[in-house]
Amino acid sequence: MAHRITLIPGDGIGPEVSAAVVRIIEAAGVAIEWEEHDAGIVAFERTGSTLPQSLLDSVIRNRVALKGPVTTPVGEGFTSVNVGLRKALDLYANLRPVTNLPGVPSRFQGVDMIIVRENTEDLYAGLENEIVPGVVAGLKVITAVASERIARFAFTHATENGRRKVTAIHKANIMKQADGLFLRCARAVAKEYPDIQYDEKIVDNACMQLVMRPEQFDVLLLPNLYGDIVSDLAAGLVGGLGVVPGANLGENSAVFEAVHGSAPDIAGQDLANPTALLLSALTMLRYIGERSSADVIFGAVSRVLAAGTTLTRDLGGSATTTQFTDAVVREIAAHR
Ligand code: NAD
Repeated sequence: MAHRITLIPGDGIGPEVSAAVVRIIEAAGVAIEWEEHDAGIVAFERTGSTLPQSLLDSVIRNRVALKGPVTTPVGEGFTSVNVGLRKALDLYANLRPVTNLPGVPSRFQGVDMIIVRENTEDLYAGLENEIVPGVVAGLKVITAVASERIARFAFTHATENGRRKVTAIHKANIMKQADGLFLRCARAVAKEYPDIQYDEKIVDNACMQLVMRPEQFDVLLLPNLYGDIVSDLAAGLVGGLGVVPGANLGENSAVFEAVHGSAPDIAGQDLANPTALLLSALTMLRYIGERSSADVIFGAVSRVLAAGTTLTRDLGGSATTTQFTDAVVREIAAHR
C-alpha cells in the first residue's frame, strides 16, 4: 500500500529541490501518494492565508510531511510560516545531523555531530512590542516544560543512537533567568542519563570551539535562536547548506526539511543542490519504515558525490539540479 505523505514544496528553490527528491524516491520504487499543499506567499495569493488550515489538516491526518523552504519577509510583512507550522503542530524538536559526506569538499573532516534545537519558544515566540516610538522590546520566552522536554529528547536520542556526550549551549552568564532555567532543566534531565556525559558551553565560546575543533562535539542541545544560528555555522563546517538535512519532530507528527532557506539568489535557475532535502527525505523514509529504500538512495547519492564529476555549484562543480538528479537516478537504476 502506498504511503500518504504531505508535500509542501515551498517557494524559492523549494519547488526545484522538492521535484528532484520526489523523482529520486520514485526511482527507488517507494510507493508514495503525495498530498501537495502551498504555504507562504504562494498560498496567500491563492487562499488568503500563508498557512492554510487544509495544509495543517493534511499533516495531522498523514502525520508525516516533506517540506521545502518558505520565504519570510525581512523586517516587515507576515510572520514566519516555518515557525507557525512548528508551533501549530507542536513539532518541538528540531534534529539536524551535521556530518561530512564522501567527496564533499569542506574545511574539516571527521565532523559528526547532532544539533538538537528547541523549536517552539525563545525569541521565536515573536512577541515584540513598540513601547514608545524608537523603543522596541522583544520577549524571550523560556519555559521549564519545553526545556525539560527538549533536554529529554536530546538524551534519549543520544542513548538510542550510541552517542556519548550532550553539550548544552547557553548565555546564562547574561540571561541568568531565561537561559538559567534552560540550563537547570538540562542538568536535571542529565542526572537521569548517567551513561551520557554532560557538559555546558557559553554560546560565543561554543562558536569558536566549533570552528577550531568541531570533532569535540557530539550532541548539541540548544534553545531556539542559538540552535538556528549554530546550525548554519555547523553546515559551513561540512560543505554548506546544500548538504545538511533536518527534521521537526513532535508527539503526533513529523515534518522533514533541510536547514537551508529559499535561496532567492539562485531560485529558478536549476542551480540548487537537492542533497539536503534528499537526506531529510531519507530520514523520513526510515521514519516510515522504508529503511532499505533509504539505504539504496543513500548509496546512490554517496557514489555520485564521491565520484565528484556531477557536483552542483555550491560544492565546486558545474552540474545543474537536473543533471545531479539524473546522475542519482542513474545510480539507483544501476544498482537495483
Ligand atoms: P538561505 O539558506 O536561503 O541561503 C543562504 C545561502 O546558501 C545562499 O547563498 C544560498 O544560495 C545558499 N544555499 C542555500 N540552500 C542551498 C542549496 N540547496 N543549494 C545551493 N545553495 C544553497 O538563507 P537566506 O538567504 O538567509 O534566507 C532566504 C529566505 O529563506 C528568507 O526568507 C528566510 O526567512 C527563509 N528561510 C526559510 C527556512 C525554512 O523554510 N525552513 C529556513 C531558513 C531561511
